[in-house]
Amino acid sequence: MSADPSADPPQPGCPSGPPAAAASPPPTAPKPSNHPATKCPCCGRRGLRPTREPGRALRYRNMCLTLPTALLVPTCRLCRHRVLTFESVPALESTLTALFRAELVHRASAEITHLVQFFSQRWLERELDLSQGYLCRLRYGDGVPSVALVSLLALLAAEPSRMAELRRYWALPLEPRSSPRCRKRAS
Ligand SMILES: [Zn+2]
Repeated sequence: MSADPSADPPQPGCPSGPPAAAASPPPTAPKPSNHPATKCPCCGRRGLRPTREPGRALRYRNMCLTLPTALLVPTCRLCRHRVLTFESVPALESTLTALFRAELVHRASAEITHLVQFFSQRWLERELDLSQGYLCRLRYGDGVPSVALVSLLALLAAEPSRMAELRRYWALPLEPRSSPRCRKRAS
């Protein structure tokens, strides 16, 4: 499994995402559930309860995702520690997978919608060697693109003139590169 929180724990409050609840407490403090509090592995006190909370950002694969407010995560009301593992939060894996895919679909659609102001979809599909109609399908949310494709679309959407650079790249034979040391000296 590529995303096992026990091997690579999610990073609550990663800087690229929304601020974690611990850093800036939400105006509506999490309501304690009827669940009896259990011992917190961080502070050792009995403060751990399944908790709903907004703004819980974490790193998953290449993204920073925000967990749904309604997702119950064992959280210590005393020290704010969260036990965020697939074992402690059975819905975590399916939630992260769904959020990850939704983000790819959403971002692809946004980048393609921007790019078609500069190029036709068909032309882009030819230049990027995509099957005919694929960008159209992605634009309307049909299909989950790869991170690599969305990354490329994002870079091109930010700087559409780089399409010309790509065309030149594929039109010409690959030139040998100078070593990093030489390039460093040249700059
Ligand atoms: Zn605690």
